[in-house]
Amino acid sequence: MKQKRNLILVVDDEPHILKAVHYILDRAGYQVLAARDAEEALSLVSRDRPSLVVADIMLPGMDGYKLCRRLRHSHPDSLTPFIFLSARDSVDDRVKGIRTGADAYLTKPFHREELLAMVEAVLDRHQSYAEQIMNDDLTGLLNRSHILQRLEEEFARARRYRRPLAAAMIDLDNFKAVNDLCGHPAGDRLLRQIAQLLRGEMRKQDFLGRYGGEEFLSVLPETTAADGAILLERCRKKVAEITARRGKNSEGIPVTLSAGVTELAGGDKNLSELLDRADCLLYRAKEEGRDRVAVR
Ligand SMILES: [Mg+2]
Repeated sequence: MKQKRNLILVVDDEPHILKAVHYILDRAGYQVLAARDAEEALSLVSRDRPSLVVADIMLPGMDGYKLCRRLRHSHPDSLTPFIFLSARDSVDDRVKGIRTGADAYLTKPFHREELLAMVEAVLDRHQSYAEQIMNDDLTGLLNRSHILQRLEEEFARARRYRRPLAAAMIDLDNFKAVNDLCGHPAGDRLLRQIAQLLRGEMRKQDFLGRYGGEEFLSVLPETTAADGAILLERCRKKVAEITARRGKNSEGIPVTLSAGVTELAGGDKNLSELLDRADCLLYRAKEEGRDRVAVR
């Protein structure tokens, strides 16, 4: 998988090396940031969150090892992919580089193709780890901690720029009956099917995660509660067409969803106020008979 839009931070005190690496990466389609020393690198990392750092070891002031160690111990950048690009080529140097926490070590003078292959391999591997960590195994949607993280980011953004933001708490009604009567494998298949259906109804900019067993949370940027409710109503109708069956001729179990949709309000100081409101609305939808969307 090509990741040509990644931002790469290159750290080197020698201008001609910096220029050469910058040129090679830029030509390969990456976005490139340059730093002449480790202090500057650290501030660029926290400001721009690059996808990868390529750093020299011998730098004025703080050296590359220390830079790498500092990154490895700083939240939330501790998993940032890191490659050493150094003139130090003894086995001891390489071992120290890898033990410090670098993902790869390349010596100067380097070959363009080798640098690019290394960059691509490190980025690909990191990307696939990141995806595995973020996703729920069963449904492939964002897992609970990551949908909450998206909500936190969107909440902060919407508050800062005074933009609308809606959140919806979604729960499948009587799902326990499906598991009990049709078995857990059938229940799992149904969850996957509904997750896919919901994902298909959402727009590109929306986030959807599995919040609990049969509960989903969706984060809808640039959306009011009223518009969010229209979207959820569409989901509700589609899900209501699904019937779970134990066998071909057995009686079907109707599958429906209930949802609570709310939007960011001026008085919301933190995330939990928004989440609690969505939760209360979901509860109300259940109380009023399920298979409905409650909105406020
Ligand atoms: Mg140097």
